[in-house]
Amino acid sequence: MGNALQTLLLAFLELFPRGGLSSALSRTLSLTMLGFQTFRELLQPEVEDRHIWRLSSNGQYSTKSAYDGFFLGSTLFGPWERIWKSWAPSKCRFFMWLVAHNRCWTADRLARRRLPHPEYCPLCDQEEETIDHLLVHCVFAREFWFILLRQVGLLILSPQPTELSFHAWWEKASSSTADGLIRQGLNSVIILGAWTIWNHRNGCVFDGAAPSLAGALILASEERRLWSMAGARGLSFLTALLPGS
Ligand SMILES: [Zn+2]
Repeated sequence: MGNALQTLLLAFLELFPRGGLSSALSRTLSLTMLGFQTFRELLQPEVEDRHIWRLSSNGQYSTKSAYDGFFLGSTLFGPWERIWKSWAPSKCRFFMWLVAHNRCWTADRLARRRLPHPEYCPLCDQEEETIDHLLVHCVFAREFWFILLRQVGLLILSPQPTELSFHAWWEKASSSTADGLIRQGLNSVIILGAWTIWNHRNGCVFDGAAPSLAGALILASEERRLWSMAGARGLSFLTALLPGS
């Protein structure tokens, strides 16, 4: 096959007198012929051809290696399981996906696009608003998490001032609980808390509301009750563990 194509290419080139083909096309054809020549020299006519599956170490095909091949070159999205496998309304999980990709329209993102933005965080009025500040570094947010997590018996997992980011804290808190209903409940609580802070922040930015820790906590309690009724088993489990419940 290689010989036949090489002969065809040579015949094609001879059809044109010098200069009759563009130099680029002529160079491409010459390189193609050179490639065939090299390929022919590498072949070992005395060795029988065999198939080698390059996606496995032993050269044998397996469905697992083929499936893994789909993800070659892909990047691992760390928090996907906490976001998409946790019990929460879809809109809240999608919000968490935006948070993970830093796609929320906080002041820093608005500023990068030269859009009007509040100079300081609308909840504490002290620092620049980023999504990590809003959800985990802000004094308002930390107090909110402290009380919310205390309400479900997980006070010890409250974010500290040293947390690097919201997702780093979430990952640490989630991995420090036993796998099962407690972790499911914690993940739901964290999604619920982040969603509540975001909505409270939007109320302050767009409706001129004043930041209210008590108001945010009342909203979170009501949401928690509704989520439990709607099937959040982890949340119901956490509530059932509380003394006097
Ligand atoms: Zn703040």
